[in-house]
Amino acid sequence: MEIDILSLFPDYFRGPFDVSMLKRARDAGLLEIRHTDIREFSENKHGRVDERPFGGGPGMVLCPGPVVRAIRSVRKPNTHVVYLSPQGNLLTAAKCGELAKYEHLVILCGHYEGVDERAMSEIDEEISIGDYVLTSGCAAAIVLIEGAARFIPGVIGHPDAVQEDSFQNGIFDGPHYTRPEVFEGMEVPAVLREGNHAKIRQWRKSEALKKTNRVRPELVMNQGENQ
Ligand code: SAM
Repeated sequence: MEIDILSLFPDYFRGPFDVSMLKRARDAGLLEIRHTDIREFSENKHGRVDERPFGGGPGMVLCPGPVVRAIRSVRKPNTHVVYLSPQGNLLTAAKCGELAKYEHLVILCGHYEGVDERAMSEIDEEISIGDYVLTSGCAAAIVLIEGAARFIPGVIGHPDAVQEDSFQNGIFDGPHYTRPEVFEGMEVPAVLREGNHAKIRQWRKSEALKKTNRVRPELVMNQGENQ
């Protein structure tokens, strides 16, 4: 999978893609991430890419020209272009799985009050990472890429791990325990130490259901509707 990130702050991404799963995926050639600075597409000699909004109001708006030119500079025939925006569809596990199937993703990170609406003519999909407002789309791009990369075959060493994660079966993952068997007086549940795998599966599912019901009851209700 190839990803082009278009932003005003390519330096923001130093670090997150150079550790752990994303670094391994890049080293293995499963994921290529490139950066484009939208300022390079400014026609202003100072590299300016924002202007005051028509109609008045606070803040600045990213001009359509530099954004559209930046997108076109990386676009290929099979490209899917995502604009990260609080006004998009919410990013979910299902959406991450869908995004991981694209051969080439372009991710546009906004800034200021957002992007001139006319640049939306180049966008295939607006995605939000939650009902809150960030200063720029950069942190959201990292979230989206990390969420989607888990679904690229080969990125997670144990493919079952992804299938058992929260939301894959509509509810949360079950609780996890490791050594020591007793920590500060708290014991690992006996069922996990007895080696009966059918019983373990059943226990994990029932614990997962209990927690999902407590924290996100709507997920359990949706599960009933989807069955
Ligand atoms: N005025 C815009 C609004 O209220 O809808 C918010 C603009 S925000 C300050 C600047 C940029 O941050 C956006 O263009 C977008 O790229 C990014 N951003 C902010 N919140 C986001 C979210 N929840 N999900 C994804 N991107 C977000």
